[in-house]
This record gives sequence, C-alpha cells and structure tokens, in this order.
Amino acid sequence: MSNCIFCKIINGEVPNHAVYEDKNVLAFLDIFPHAKGHTVVVPKKHYQDLEQLPEIEWKNLAIGLQKAMDRLRKVLNPEGFNIGINNHEIAGQAVGHVHWHILPRWQKDGGGSMHSIIKNPGEQGVEKIAKLFI
Ligand code: AMP
Ligand code: ZN
Repeated sequence: MSNCIFCKIINGEVPNHAVYEDKNVLAFLDIFPHAKGHTVVVPKKHYQDLEQLPEIEWKNLAIGLQKAMDRLRKVLNPEGFNIGINNHEIAGQAVGHVHWHILPRWQKDGGGSMHSIIKNPGEQGVEKIAKLFI
C-alpha cells in the first residue's frame, strides 16, 4: 500500500536496520525501541490486520519470528523475550500493516509480562465464560 510506512520500508523507500530477511518477511529494529533490540517482524505483502492474514502468511511470519529471535539471541544475548501483536487500534495497533513485536528481556530491565497489558477480566468469571465455548 502506497501510504503504508512498513510497505515503504519493504520497498526500500524508507531506510531500516534489518535483523533478518527472507523472501516473505522482513524483521527490523523498531525506531522507538521499548527494549534494547526491540524488533518488528512484518510480512512483505500488505495485510492490515491478523483477520486478513492467510494461513500461509501466518506460517511465514512465525518462521521469520523464530529466525529474528535466533539472530537477536546471537547478537545481544538476552535472557528472555516477550513477543506480541497489537491487533486493531483498540489493542494499540498504530501501523496498519501486520507486525509482530519482539522485546528482548534482561534481569532488572524494569519491564513486565503479558499480564501487565490489561487487568479487566469482567464480572462473569471463568466458569460462565467457559460455557459460551461449549
Ligand atoms: P504498533 O503500535 O503495534 O502499531 O507498533 C508500530 C511500531 O512501529 C512502533 O513501535 C513504532 O515505533 C514502529 N515504527 C514506526 N515507524 C517506524 C520506522 N520507520 N522504522 C522502524 N519502526 C517504526
Ligand atoms: Zn503495508
């Protein structure tokens, strides 16, 4: 998409610091890092959100994620990672081109876990919610 910043990066119109690249995905350093080595992994084809992402692209993206994590491990030697996707604006998605965040983690880096994203489980309790899935 012509006005998409990630498409511009993929097309070479905007520079990036690549961490990993193959024919399907590009992983590059986030320009406003929340951790040392904060990386985003993006499919080379434009998809707005995960609902639009075909199964094969999920697989390609997962492989790209794994390879980018390998690279980050080798270069920065983190003690762990958080990986996550902000899917839709309500969940914090600012760039409308699917991307997977990789946040390398170290002891005493001041960060939290996935559980610090939200703590609002609703009134109904797990048992009631579970019934909706039967
Ligand atoms: P999200 O909030 O999940 O949409 O995250 C989008 C991410 O893209 C943010 O962490 C931005 O810092 C990052 N970002 C935006 N523009 C660029 C760019 N030109 N190069 C690298 N990262 C970028
Ligand atoms: Zn795009």
